[in-house]
Amino acid sequence: MAYAIDMHCDTLMTTFYEHGADSDFFDIPSQNLDVKRMMAGKTMAEFMAIFFPPEQYYTDVMHIEPVPYDTHIANCIKVMNNTLERYPDLVKQAYNSEDIERNFRDGKISLVLTMEDGVAVQGDMRRLDAFYELGVRAMTLTWNFENCFGAPNSKDPIIMNKGLTNFGREAVRHMQDIGMLVDVSHVSDGVFWDVCRQAKVPFVATHSNSRALCDHTRNMTDDMIRALAEKGGCMGLNIAPQFLDDTPGNKESRIRDLVAMARHEKEVGGIGVVAVGTDFDGTTGHLELNGPDKMPMLCDALIRDGFTADEVDLIMYGNVLRVLKEAVK
Ligand SMILES: [Zn+2]
Repeated sequence: MAYAIDMHCDTLMTTFYEHGADSDFFDIPSQNLDVKRMMAGKTMAEFMAIFFPPEQYYTDVMHIEPVPYDTHIANCIKVMNNTLERYPDLVKQAYNSEDIERNFRDGKISLVLTMEDGVAVQGDMRRLDAFYELGVRAMTLTWNFENCFGAPNSKDPIIMNKGLTNFGREAVRHMQDIGMLVDVSHVSDGVFWDVCRQAKVPFVATHSNSRALCDHTRNMTDDMIRALAEKGGCMGLNIAPQFLDDTPGNKESRIRDLVAMARHEKEVGGIGVVAVGTDFDGTTGHLELNGPDKMPMLCDALIRDGFTADEVDLIMYGNVLRVLKEAVK
């Protein structure tokens, strides 16, 4: 059974807003992810995203006043630190691949802090540096709205073709210089190609699937998958039903659909491009892979589909470790 590195979850935010400032995520059965289930599923590392919800989410879903970016960042980090401080024998923060490998040898799960949406950078390179200092080692350039980096994925071809802003180009260069992973999940096709053209080190799509198999603007075309692979990057298999099966109204997220994605991505970009980025606690539906404890089911399904044990190791953790070695300091 392979170990796993998962490039995306929204557990920090859900833990804070559902369980409060003193909470940790050791054992939260109401969520997809907690430390207990990461141990059961042999998680090697989990990318913990600080996701910035839109104002509407605060008012309509959580029924609270929108929280300023920096307060929200502090809230998410509080939950992560609570977990790290209370379970030092089980989890440890990691800042690069060496940390992950050392923690793994010590029998500890690595937590890597990431940011979903560059909106909080607010067009200020000093804020980007400050986030790096806080421990942020990957940044999803946009979520579903335009920001200082550029445009998001969209059905509107004008938005979809928009690329990086001037600041975005400079910021991507800066991120690759300082060793912060550039994440193109959620971005427009225009931003993807701009990143691809200027990338000096591998970049990632932390939680994106194939558009050829599931026609959604959040997924990647075969040309994009090939280009990502040529740059040495990888993309994380995402469990969200709407990114796996585009049948209208589909709420099913099946492991066999994840395997089909892996097979297609391998055919198009080679085995080096396939990785895992579940989006635990960031998506809803009937999720077969509904927690890190279910990762062995994904491994078994990949083997049954004809992937070799070495290939499964690359998908589950090897490819992400390779990218981190090259792109993150
Ligand atoms: Zn996302």
